[in-house]
Amino acid sequence: MKRSLNDYREIVGDDAIGEIYRRARKLYGKTVVHVNSTYYGGGVAEILGSIVPLMNDVGIAAGWRMLRGTPDFFNITKKFHNALQGNSVNLTDIKKKLYCQANEDFSTYSHITHDCVIIHDPQPLPLIQFYQRKQPWVWRVHIDLTNPNSKLWEFLKSFVLKYDVIIISSEEYKLKNMPVEQRIIHPAIDPLSPKNMTISEKDIAKYLKKFNIPTDKPIITQISRFDRFKDQEGLIDIFRLVKQEVDCRLVLCGSMAVDDPESQQYYERTKRKANNFVKDQDVILITSENNILVNALQRISTVVVQKSLREGFGLTVTEALLKKKPVVASKVGGITLQIVDGETGFLVEPNDKEGFAKRIIEIMTNPSLAKTLGENASDDVKKRFLITRLLGDYLDLLQDLIT
Ligand code: UDP
Repeated sequence: MKRSLNDYREIVGDDAIGEIYRRARKLYGKTVVHVNSTYYGGGVAEILGSIVPLMNDVGIAAGWRMLRGTPDFFNITKKFHNALQGNSVNLTDIKKKLYCQANEDFSTYSHITHDCVIIHDPQPLPLIQFYQRKQPWVWRVHIDLTNPNSKLWEFLKSFVLKYDVIIISSEEYKLKNMPVEQRIIHPAIDPLSPKNMTISEKDIAKYLKKFNIPTDKPIITQISRFDRFKDQEGLIDIFRLVKQEVDCRLVLCGSMAVDDPESQQYYERTKRKANNFVKDQDVILITSENNILVNALQRISTVVVQKSLREGFGLTVTEALLKKKPVVASKVGGITLQIVDGETGFLVEPNDKEGFAKRIIEIMTNPSLAKTLGENASDDVKKRFLITRLLGDYLDLLQDLIT
């Protein structure tokens, strides 16, 4: 269903809507193209799916294109992604060549004549090398850049330097020795998307039945791609500790993104680790990509956990907070902005499994604490992390660049 900015009036109020229309006025008819490397799976696709139609609704001609990659290409870019988050990488010439080749191929069939180009994450970063520059190019990087692998960064920097603006998700990710303008824009979620919209009790029950999720015990959930940085394995250890005090279930729901070739392997490892619990149906692993299921799971959970070891900005955290869910999450990256510790949820050091278990048990055994955290959380998300605010930020950026 086509969504319009007006649909958000009830959530953010008329003043905010009028203000966004006003900020769009100088941009009528301007053309903007976003490029990333996947239409689904992960936060970037999630945001683009909402922000691109809204940009069009306010009068910009905004498009979204996807860089086509081979499995080899995605193997390499996943290694780059991990290395940008601090892992080591064996940066061979062949890797560099395959990385650039997919970008060069794209440039031979995809014409870019827009007023502004917005490139998301490292996969399409080299595209700038293969086009005649006619407009500002923006690199919007969604990952945690506090500790990038220096060898890889030196290589990528040759592309980054050509950009007009870099957008990062948090002050902490500011790149040192970088003579390109850096702006901070916090990601956001769409309260009207199928993943976040209000759904009826009947629909929730239907989806839980369809995916075989019993509700006779309290449920702890983490919604995340199967990825070692999301640390589902660590969460199973925490679950073991919680289970000693409170009988409950753990649901790990994670789709496999097309641009992430490692996820299947990590999923298998997680499943082996959960082995006995899986047999007893106390750990439920789900790999289907289904927005309403994610919505339903977040709503029926007693606690939502995000046990990430690295997180540029965890949309899943904000999705749960909007739904008034108490969230216990790692004190890493963007999550430290998303949760006000002790007020809208709890932050725990990523390796402190006992600390996680303690907070989860505290919430499970204290419904009034859960309720207070949830209510604070939802109010806070509405103020800071909705898609309408993100749209306004993009409009300001475009005004500065192309008017
Ligand atoms: N997601 C989903 N199904 C899954 C796992 C994740 O729909 O099985 C969605 C999730 O709800 C969120 C996005 O994918 O909207 C993940 O974004 P986040 O920023 O949390 O992490 P990323 O995957 O980008 O690292």
